[in-house]
Amino acid sequence: MSDLKFSTLALKPELLSNLESLGYESMTPIQAQSLPDILKGKDVIGQGKTGSGKTAAFGLGLLQKLDVKRFRIQSLILCPTRELADQVAKEIRRLARSIHNIKVLTLCGGMPFGPQIGSLEHGAHIVVGTPGRVEEHVIKGTLNLENLNLLILDEADRMLDMGFQPALDNIVRRAPDDRQTLLFSATFPNKIKQISERIMTKPGMVKVESTHDDSSITQHFYKVADNDQRLEALRLLLMQHKPESAVVFCNTKKDAQIVADKLIAFGFSTLALHGDLEQRDRDQTLVRFANKSANVLVATDVAARGLDIDNLDAVFNFHIALDTEVHVHRIGRTGRAGSKGIACSIFSDKESYKVALLEDYLNRKIVGEELPDFNVLHDAVMRPQMITIQIDGGKRDKVRPGDILGALTGENGIKGDQVGKINVSQNFAYVAVKRSAHKLAIKKLEKGKIKGRNFRVRVIRG
Ligand code: AMP
Repeated sequence: MSDLKFSTLALKPELLSNLESLGYESMTPIQAQSLPDILKGKDVIGQGKTGSGKTAAFGLGLLQKLDVKRFRIQSLILCPTRELADQVAKEIRRLARSIHNIKVLTLCGGMPFGPQIGSLEHGAHIVVGTPGRVEEHVIKGTLNLENLNLLILDEADRMLDMGFQPALDNIVRRAPDDRQTLLFSATFPNKIKQISERIMTKPGMVKVESTHDDSSITQHFYKVADNDQRLEALRLLLMQHKPESAVVFCNTKKDAQIVADKLIAFGFSTLALHGDLEQRDRDQTLVRFANKSANVLVATDVAARGLDIDNLDAVFNFHIALDTEVHVHRIGRTGRAGSKGIACSIFSDKESYKVALLEDYLNRKIVGEELPDFNVLHDAVMRPQMITIQIDGGKRDKVRPGDILGALTGENGIKGDQVGKINVSQNFAYVAVKRSAHKLAIKKLEKGKIKGRNFRVRVIRG
C-alpha cells in the first residue's frame, strides 16, 4: 500500500466518498502509478496481477470518464475467462454504486446468446466480456462500438495464450481510433509488446514489483525420480501440511485430471479444474472450492486464472511451470494479505533447465529437500469444513441469498454461523453449510419454502 490517498486525485466526489465507504484508504502501488495518467486520458500499460488492485485502477478511470447521461456503450473490458469477467463486473459495480443508473453488461462465452442480444437492445454503458463472444456480437452487429472511448484489455497475456489474438484484432478494428486504450498483463512476453505497439498510442508503462515478497511465502523444492514418485511426494506433502485450501498446479489438462483422480483415490477431498470441463461443472467447481467444501483443487494455469481466493494455505507445483513468471504467479496465490503461505515444487532431473532459470530468477540455489516421513500417512486425511447444497432455483426464479439464509436459519433451523458462502447463478443456487449441520439444513430447505416454492435440493458430494 502506498501512502497516497485517493483524495489527491481529481475524482468525482461521489466516487471518492464511495471509496471511503468501501474502506479503500490509500492507493495500491499500481493505482498510485497508473491513475494520474489514466485520468489524463493517456494510454497505459500496467504490469500487475490479481491482488494488485488493477481492477480499481482501470475501473476508477473508466467511471471518471463515463458520461452517464449518454446511454451508449462507452467502455469495453476484455478478459480471458468468464470468471474474471464476472469479478471485474462485480468490482466495477461496487465502485459505481454511488452513481445512479450505470449499466454494466457481461458478454461471455458459454452463456446463451439470445438473452445477451436482448440485454444489448436494452442498452448499457459498460461491457465486460470474453473476446470470442464479444467478437461474435460485433460481427453480427448486435454490439455497436461506435461510441466507445475506452478499451481495456485485462490479463492480456492470458488472452493471447488462449488464442484470442484474432478475436482481439477483429474487435479493435471495429473500435474508433480516437479511443483510450489500457492494457494490463501479469507478464510481458514479446507478443504483448507487439500488440501494444499495434493498438496503443504512446503508452506509459507502469510496473509494480510483485506484492509477494519472500517473507510471506516459504518456498520448498523436492526432487523425485519419476511420475510415480511425484504423486507419492505430493501425497506426503499434503499429509504433512494438511491445508484447508490448496491448489496443485499441473502443466497439462491430462495431468490435472490424472492427479485429481489419484488424490481422490487416496481419500483427499479434491476437485479438478481445467479447460475440458463443461462451463457448468467449472462454475460448480469454483464455487465448491471457494466455499471450502473441498480441500484441494488440481488446476492448469489457464483454468486457475479466474480463481479469486485470498486464503490459500499452500500451493503445490506438480511440475515446475514452463515459464519463470508463471511460477511466480502460481506461488503468489498463497501468502496473500500478509498471511503466511507455503509453496512446494516437485521436480526431476528432466526439469533441470527450468530449475536453473528459477535459480537465476530467485537468486538462490535450489536443492531438493527431504520429503516428509511415511509416518504422516498414518494420520487421518483432512476433511473440508463445509458441504455444498445445491438448490434447483436461481436468479431466473428470483431467488436471492437472503431468501436462502432465511429458509435455513428460520424456526428450529441451523445457526447463522453454520452457513458459509451463498452463490446464486441463473438456474441454481449453492449454499455452503458446516458439515455437522448439513442434515438439518437439507431438511429445512426441503420442508420450508423459498420465494413461496419448494425447490429440489441436494448435497453435492465430492
Ligand atoms: P484486483 O487486483 O483488482 O483483483 O484487486 C484485489 C482486491 O483488492 C480486490 O478485492 C479489491 O476490492 C481490493 N482493493 C483494490 N484497491 C484497493 C485499495 N486501494 N484499498 C483496499 N483494497 C483495495
